[in-house]
Amino acid sequence: DPRLKAISDAITVVPHFPKPGIMFQDITTLVSNHKVFKHTVEIFVDRYRDMDISVVAGVEARGFMFAPSIALGIGAKFIPLRKPGKLPGEVISEAYELEYGKDRLEMHVGAVKPGERALVIDDLVATGGTLSAAIRLLERNGAEVVECACVIGLPELKERRLLNGKPLYVLVEPR
Ligand code: IMP
Repeated sequence: DPRLKAISDAITVVPHFPKPGIMFQDITTLVSNHKVFKHTVEIFVDRYRDMDISVVAGVEARGFMFAPSIALGIGAKFIPLRKPGKLPGEVISEAYELEYGKDRLEMHVGAVKPGERALVIDDLVATGGTLSAAIRLLERNGAEVVECACVIGLPELKERRLLNGKPLYVLVEPR
């Protein structure tokens, strides 16, 4: 698929951001390229449109750049999974490991109905820790997670077990 090369080419690598040694994969140059952004959303929409998915959950913050467009494209609702303290209603919360320390994701109670089929979207998967917290939130609220999808993923997800057996779909490898 020639669109995948265009997507990879549109990602900018920023060395030593936000810390020394990190090769940051910057997708702002992807979403600012209308044609490539459209290709990206279309690939996901084509994959998920006939899978009976009624919920697209986006992970703050960069998952928010893709998830709403995918939700609109497949006729599903969008729900935000947010960093602690941002959602105004009653929330459930899941902690996950970072390289140094911990973080949490929160979801509104009642954002999904029991049995709803959900897709989880983020920009990039590294260890899978973030996506695994997202899966736990959705499952605790009764949703069925069909798949997790990211624009960028490492060729070998180191801790696949973190995704708890859920399929992972990625478009390109880090540059
Ligand atoms: P994981 O939990 O180890 O899989 O890390 C994935 C999370 O870290 C995602 O929410 C990403 O947005 C973020 N992340 C890690 N490295 C990068 C990067 O190079 N570019 C953009 N996001 C990143």
